[in-house]
Amino acid sequence: MKIMKYTMGIGDRFGRQGEAQLAALVKVRSLGVEVGPVWNKSHREHCIVKTEPMDVRNEADAAVSALDWNLPYFVDADHINLKTVDRFIDSSNFFSLDVADAIGQVADARYVEQFLKRHPELLRPLDIDGIANTLPLSKSRTRDIANKYLFAVKSAAAIYGRIEDEKGAGRFVTEVSMDETSTPQTPDELLAILAALADEGIPVQTIAPRFSGRFNKGVDYVGDVAAFEAEFRADLAVIAHAVKAYGLSVNLKLSVHSGSDKFAIYPCIAQALQDTGAGLHIKTAGTTWLEELISLAESGGGGLRIAKEVYRDALGRFDELCGPYADVIDIDPQNLPTADIVAEWDGPRFASAIRHDSGCADYNSDLRQLLHVGYKVAAEMGDRYLDALTANRVVISQHVQENLFERHLKPLFLS
Ligand SMILES: [Zn+2]
Repeated sequence: MKIMKYTMGIGDRFGRQGEAQLAALVKVRSLGVEVGPVWNKSHREHCIVKTEPMDVRNEADAAVSALDWNLPYFVDADHINLKTVDRFIDSSNFFSLDVADAIGQVADARYVEQFLKRHPELLRPLDIDGIANTLPLSKSRTRDIANKYLFAVKSAAAIYGRIEDEKGAGRFVTEVSMDETSTPQTPDELLAILAALADEGIPVQTIAPRFSGRFNKGVDYVGDVAAFEAEFRADLAVIAHAVKAYGLSVNLKLSVHSGSDKFAIYPCIAQALQDTGAGLHIKTAGTTWLEELISLAESGGGGLRIAKEVYRDALGRFDELCGPYADVIDIDPQNLPTADIVAEWDGPRFASAIRHDSGCADYNSDLRQLLHVGYKVAAEMGDRYLDALTANRVVISQHVQENLFERHLKPLFLS
């Protein structure tokens, strides 16, 4: 099973917007660019919303059949590890092996020495096509990298082996993700990691490094865009080199776990893809649930009441809701309006506070982030929330499709 050149990871907390999401990809395809859907939902999200991985499979299948999508499509076991993989085996055909927690755990000394012996090309400075600076590799530098990452590579091999045993080789797409960690991987680290993944025989097709800068949930990139661009281009060059040098899948491509809405870096990603012909997997539509909230708020009446209630509850449960996401949000509580102030807002005012439009004076990125992680409150409303989604189905679907197409797919793939 081969991944397409371009794919988009689309998240959908409540599983109702699969068709609207796919409609955005159908629209891009009608304009000449094929971007494959990868429906992703992590173990954490399933636990909070109380859904099963098979629900995502059913959602994907239904959307694909409703819109006659005849290109590949994928259901991602998102950020799984050995403890959580089992429940995803039947429903998924794309597995993101999360080894971030294993980074820095010291690998077996013999394994490290074997790696150094197997890779004399990594023991000296290395020039790679497409990177201006020589990669500063040396025996001691590469030993440090091996000590830092080989345990994680072994962990990936263990998870991969488990899935292969159950599903059979070649019957699923493998991603290795290392993004949920505090320090970015440098291009020379990425190269050594890819060499080690090849040594382990892991047929990795997408790899998700941690990039420089902050990728907070649902809000824009925070960091030096030029530095990101240089890093992104260097990673593309490293991947192209590693595919040839280590016989990795020719489909191997970067996976950007964007945390959604990194509009500031879209132009340089698009340009780099054009310049190099590289593929991309980008996870970016985790904000589908916020499009639901925006639509409910705008609809007024019961929908607006639900939106306000979610905010009031989320504010009261700030620590509980933000805790699991502490590494990927930056909320200044001082900037959060009180629930009583929000209670006075009309629908358009509420919507404009959430909608990600930094040019709008009402936009409040702190409030947006809190609501983004506040989906647990809506999940606990159960049928009341789901019935509101049904009642406002048409307008929500328009918002979801338009958000994905206009603000994500267009700047990335049609610019
Ligand atoms: Zn991630």
